[in-house]
Amino acid sequence: SLSDRLGSVFEKLRGRGALTELDVRAAMREVRIALLEADVALSVVKTFIEQVTERAIGAEVVRSVTPGQQVVKIVNDALVELLGSEAVDLNIDVTPPAVIMMVGLQGSGKTTTTAKLAKFLTEKRGKKILMASLDVARPAAQEQLRVLGEQTGVTTLPVIAGQQPVQIAERARQAAKLQGFDVVLLDTAGRLNVDTALMAEMAAIASATRPDEILLVVDALTGQDAVNVATAFKAEVPLTGIVLTRMDGDARGGAALSMRAVTERPIKFAGTGEKLDALEAFDPQRVAGRILGMGDIVGLVERAAANIEQADAERMAAKLAKGQFDMEDLRGQLRQMKAMGGLGALAGMIPGMGAAKKAMDSGAMDEKVLGRMEAIIGSMTPKERAKPEILTAKRKIRIAKGAGTTVQEVNKVIKMQLDMASAMKKLRKMGGMKGMAAMMA
Ligand code: GDP
Ligand code: MG
Repeated sequence: SLSDRLGSVFEKLRGRGALTELDVRAAMREVRIALLEADVALSVVKTFIEQVTERAIGAEVVRSVTPGQQVVKIVNDALVELLGSEAVDLNIDVTPPAVIMMVGLQGSGKTTTTAKLAKFLTEKRGKKILMASLDVARPAAQEQLRVLGEQTGVTTLPVIAGQQPVQIAERARQAAKLQGFDVVLLDTAGRLNVDTALMAEMAAIASATRPDEILLVVDALTGQDAVNVATAFKAEVPLTGIVLTRMDGDARGGAALSMRAVTERPIKFAGTGEKLDALEAFDPQRVAGRILGMGDIVGLVERAAANIEQADAERMAAKLAKGQFDMEDLRGQLRQMKAMGGLGALAGMIPGMGAAKKAMDSGAMDEKVLGRMEAIIGSMTPKERAKPEILTAKRKIRIAKGAGTTVQEVNKVIKMQLDMASAMKKLRKMGGMKGMAAMMA
């Protein structure tokens, strides 16, 4: 991740005062790699780096942070700004019916998102929604939308065999007007790639219907191709916004930046799963963190700030500032996890705790296991807790006996502490959690 990469650059950037051009360029090389790894399109990366470099050179380094952190802050702010600092709402408060048209490549999630949006507008906004499928290219497509309508309790326009997309769109608008619907959602046919006939059809629908919103639905996993897709759709129809789907997957979200940069349209929603309630308002902060590979750390700092007792936090911050994490700290973490309702909330965000979280999610780790781990740490002497490296085989056997468990279990606890300690060393390179917290504030 970028935090790892910048660790080494930070080591070199120890000076104070203004950021020099040399420092900034060194840091930007790492930022560039991080962006490319997050699948931001090359041309977008180039422009972005140029702009940020200009902004960063000569910037004053705030007293409480390192130059490296200052660079990350500048990059993070620029990313958030480009992704859209403010949420932009749907433009549906027009003389009814408002028309929203969904466009995008085949399989990007148009039909699913249409149903999600219908459900959202019905339940959260109290709107009366009519959905219509204009996808006459695939026989099953209209049926797919009808089934989704049944699942969500949203009305779909009855299908009339042989009708063409522009006619269906017109009929949908008429029906909505007569029957008092607030919003018409038009789901269009998928384009396998940027296919000319279908692009022309889409343009025809748009110019005949003049939708209030034309949303480009894009799979967050789209990599370098994002620029082509965005350019092609933008050339054919007046896009008003973007929906990024599959944000629940492994995608680092680079497509968000590419789409935003090329279309200059706001990203309005993020799809986060196959279920019909898996639709969220787009969150630029979170996606910026994810693109930089720092989302977990930022989230951790925020959550830690909200949940850790003040005294604990200070003690922890002092230790982390030294890049330390001993058994006593692990015990504190385990207690907190119990208090915060299980490992789930925090563990996934702590570097090195991913394995513990997986174990928890799979049911292999629960309150009982947490209790056992605490017992193991409790059976250690204060010296062993402070310096776990002195734990010899003999000591481990004693501890296992004391806690009524096996050496294997003791080893698991040691492994966890070691993972955390090494993660904390990485954090330390960035100035520790306190520095991170100050920087993100
Ligand atoms: P269309 O061809 O653009 O209409 O795409 P569909 O709406 O039919 O979606 C294609 C597949 O992607 C379906 O299996 C959906 O369940 C899935 N899908 C859509 N949005 C999401 C999402 O946000 N997350 C995940 N995991 N799957 C999604
Ligand atoms: Mg579809």
